[in-house]
Amino acid sequence: MKPPQIPVDEQERLKELQALSILDTDPEERFDRVTRMAKRLFGVPIALVSLIDENRQWFKSCFGLDVNETERRISFCGHAILEKGALVINDATKDERFFDNPLVTEDPHIRFYAGQPLRTMSGQGLGTLCIIDRAPRDFSDEDLGMLADLAGMVEREIMAVQLTVSDDLTKISNRRGFLTLTRYSLDICRREMFPATLIFFDLDKFKEINDTYGHVEGDRALKFFAGEMRETLRSSDIFARLGGDEFVALLTNFEVDMIQELIKRFQTMLRSRCDEASLPYNIEFSYGFVNFDPLKHESIDDMLNEADSAMYENKKSKRDVMHKPLSDD
Ligand code: GH3
Ligand code: MG
Repeated sequence: MKPPQIPVDEQERLKELQALSILDTDPEERFDRVTRMAKRLFGVPIALVSLIDENRQWFKSCFGLDVNETERRISFCGHAILEKGALVINDATKDERFFDNPLVTEDPHIRFYAGQPLRTMSGQGLGTLCIIDRAPRDFSDEDLGMLADLAGMVEREIMAVQLTVSDDLTKISNRRGFLTLTRYSLDICRREMFPATLIFFDLDKFKEINDTYGHVEGDRALKFFAGEMRETLRSSDIFARLGGDEFVALLTNFEVDMIQELIKRFQTMLRSRCDEASLPYNIEFSYGFVNFDPLKHESIDDMLNEADSAMYENKKSKRDVMHKPLSDD
């Protein structure tokens, strides 16, 4: 048996999967409708929407099996997400990857498998729509087309979920996505006693960019800022546009003493990137940050409020410096 390989961008993939908040949720008619159709159209005993989590495959929709997850290492779908198109195994007993797989040698005695990868808007393979038979089968090009069409229906439903957690303009997480993702992260930090820092950013004089160069240029500046956050932060960091010109980032397991330095580096890099892109303005920001304290912060909202206040103080102190009357000497 060959366990499935781990995709190269696994961290990103898992992050997108977790951001959907779909794992371990109840069955939903919008997904069940498609698996029911697949089962009937292909005349198979088993049809699934399977999502590949870190160590397991979990079934969002499941007809014909009485378990709702299996280990990833024995999953067929773990292999399928690595494929561009569908993975079709006509007879698993004759395939070196699967012949001694417990799902083949024992219940449910898989012989035939066809799984079409389900991709997110950014192309990450989250799982599959798959059909399974206990007898070997042929699968025609027409069948392949039909399976891909059905998988498209599942992808559209996943996209609908995704749209509610990502920001339309910048394509990074929105407030809802941030709250969902960070809840999961903070739980881990609380349990494992990992440090975490939340940084709150508000662009300075952003209205001036809108007023001077127009709203479209303002939008471009927001996208630019989001893009720089994506470039600078690590894939394990969670960041989002909360709304307007407010952005946040939660850095976990990061040396908290280094935060000031990281922010300074980010500001310097942002300036030089604005120059490189020949923007007629610099994107400047005020910031505030707060280190996670499990005794003080019950939720991410507590941290957001504190970091927002710190940001406001930072902005105010900059304004005070600007408006300080010149001394006589
Ligand atoms: P401050 O330095 O005090 O932060 O002031 P500011 O000019 O940056 O303005 P403020 O943060 O108070 O408000 C943000 C402004 O961003 C308000 C709104 O006109 C503008 N804005 C909000 N959403 C969008 C958007 O999606 N696109 C564009 N172009 N502008 C937006
Ligand atoms: Mg602002």
